[in-house]
Amino acid sequence: MATNYGGYMGKVLRINLSTKEVSEYPFSDEERKLYIGGKTMAAKILSDHLTGNEKAFSEDNLLVITTGPMTGSGAPSSSRFNISTLSPLTGYITSSNCGGNFGYYLKKAGLDALVISGKCENPTWIEIQNDTVLFHEADDLWGLKTSETQEKLDEKLTMKNGRVRKNGKICIGPAGENQVLYASIISNERVSGRGGTGAVMGWMKLKAVCASGNKEVKVIEKEKMVKHTQKWFKYLRKHPLTGNQLPKMGTAGLVSAMQMKSILSTKNYQYGQYDKFEDISGEKLAEEYNIVNKGCLTCPIRCARTVEVNGKQVKGPELETLVLLGSGILNNDLKSILRWNYELDELGMDTISCANTLSYAMEANEKGLWDNGLVFSEIDDISKVFEDIAYARGIGAELALGSKRLAEKYGGKEFAINAKGMELAAYEPRKTVGLGLGYAVSNRGGCHLNGGYLVILEGLGLSIDPTTPRGKADLTMMFQDLMEMISATGQCLFTSYAFFPSPLMNHPNSWYTKLVNKILPYCGGVVRFINKFPEIAFFHLPVFHHTKAFELVTGMKMPFGNYLRAGERGYNLERIVNARFGVDESKDSLPKRLTDVPQDPNKPETKVPLETMKKVYYKARGWDEKGLPTKKTIERLKLDGDVRDKG
Ligand code: SF4
Repeated sequence: MATNYGGYMGKVLRINLSTKEVSEYPFSDEERKLYIGGKTMAAKILSDHLTGNEKAFSEDNLLVITTGPMTGSGAPSSSRFNISTLSPLTGYITSSNCGGNFGYYLKKAGLDALVISGKCENPTWIEIQNDTVLFHEADDLWGLKTSETQEKLDEKLTMKNGRVRKNGKICIGPAGENQVLYASIISNERVSGRGGTGAVMGWMKLKAVCASGNKEVKVIEKEKMVKHTQKWFKYLRKHPLTGNQLPKMGTAGLVSAMQMKSILSTKNYQYGQYDKFEDISGEKLAEEYNIVNKGCLTCPIRCARTVEVNGKQVKGPELETLVLLGSGILNNDLKSILRWNYELDELGMDTISCANTLSYAMEANEKGLWDNGLVFSEIDDISKVFEDIAYARGIGAELALGSKRLAEKYGGKEFAINAKGMELAAYEPRKTVGLGLGYAVSNRGGCHLNGGYLVILEGLGLSIDPTTPRGKADLTMMFQDLMEMISATGQCLFTSYAFFPSPLMNHPNSWYTKLVNKILPYCGGVVRFINKFPEIAFFHLPVFHHTKAFELVTGMKMPFGNYLRAGERGYNLERIVNARFGVDESKDSLPKRLTDVPQDPNKPETKVPLETMKKVYYKARGWDEKGLPTKKTIERLKLDGDVRDKG
């Protein structure tokens, strides 16, 4: 359906793999205004199809690949695309935001999104070139690892003149083919990692999708956007987080700060500090292993590292992988983590869920619950274990199920570190309790980003009291909604780091930063008021360039308040769909290790006061005591059409 807005290509394609039918999926301008793009657009499409009775591995599930209106607009860090589906790991919606180049090329093909359903009879890959969709046999690709698959696809896309047609691709590895519940999808070296999107693609017998074309993204106020973008690039390059820390050390640079704040998950989240943390730090990675910095298209931050593994230059590990395969399993051999990171991407597996499942298994073995041969700090055979997981062999077939299912079988639920079935990120939440709340209520499970990433206020940017519940619920809601919308527009969440004024980051010990740290927890009421009436922010904030850029690209009015509201709508929409699958207050939980056992035995406050924060959070969100949006909230967010009885 054509669009009057800029930023959109005006076409969503529905592809049925069972019948090989291709048709246009109707998505109107009215819907674009409410559901923007990315994960929110995907949530709307899933909402219109899922009743609560479907299973992830079934023809009733959809794999929805969406871009946002900012994807390919030239704005900083705007090459992102999103993949949403019913997760085989959690049983609820998962959404995974990815860099790479697929989103950009999908738009070049004239498409905003793909809605894929059904199942191929034989392994297949799809070629999209402008308006043409071709289905190809993928017998020769099936079984290949992800970089080999992408190389072979480039061979197939080589034109008569010997050049490879410019294209963006996504593909799965052996883990997706064998339906490891946390299998990922790869685009270049970037990963759609969380929730098992790759397993759904594998179940569909869809090995890869390639997109190419020559369409242009329409920008409504082109000249003004160019000027605004230049200003924005400059701002990001000058900001201490996006212009210094992330380019210098990537997310890996946070390891040392996490150690200092006692939030470095160690030995399966038993502790918040690791005595050998320096061996796995971002500093060591930068000094000894980093060859060059890399970035996604149009990104001035360039947070990715390149390292050498087996004589090949490959993507280095992110913070999560460093920590969870480092201190998480008591391993201080950085070289092994670089190699495993590469191997897991090659096999197509989420490093976070895989590492946490491994550390659960090690602890279960140590406690005598499950005799599996896996031991903390013994790392010689780990590469083989990863291969076994990807090919679902021996003990690997069990580890492929994730920590929640294993704990149900072998016991040890209190140390199976997941929320809603998805393993937590690397931040130990007992000394960043706002993030603990975020992990528990997050729509896709134990995710720091979908959870609002409050750790940036509780120690990694600002330093507000990390163990007080005060103010955390309202701040969590605000940050969740903000990130929801950044993701929906097709931009990288790291651009939000520049939201924090530079002087506060540059001078953590100044009187004004200390004052902000002191008073922020007491601002819950003010934050609640803004969350409730975001329309009062009818302007653009000088530290947040996203809103003006959105207006210049799309032609839609989007002051800061509207931006927040749109994020809130997206967040609630996913919750409403998840409620059809049984999500309510009882599912917003954390393992007992984090809520009942203080990290520091002498400080009872060093555990997550989840129930206290949840009550305030539900109130702030306008949800009832069961954790579901009230009628009033649903009406306010114009989500009436998305509420339906299960069945
Ligand atoms: S900040 Fe990193 S992940 Fe985000 S767009 Fe840039 S390079 Fe990609």
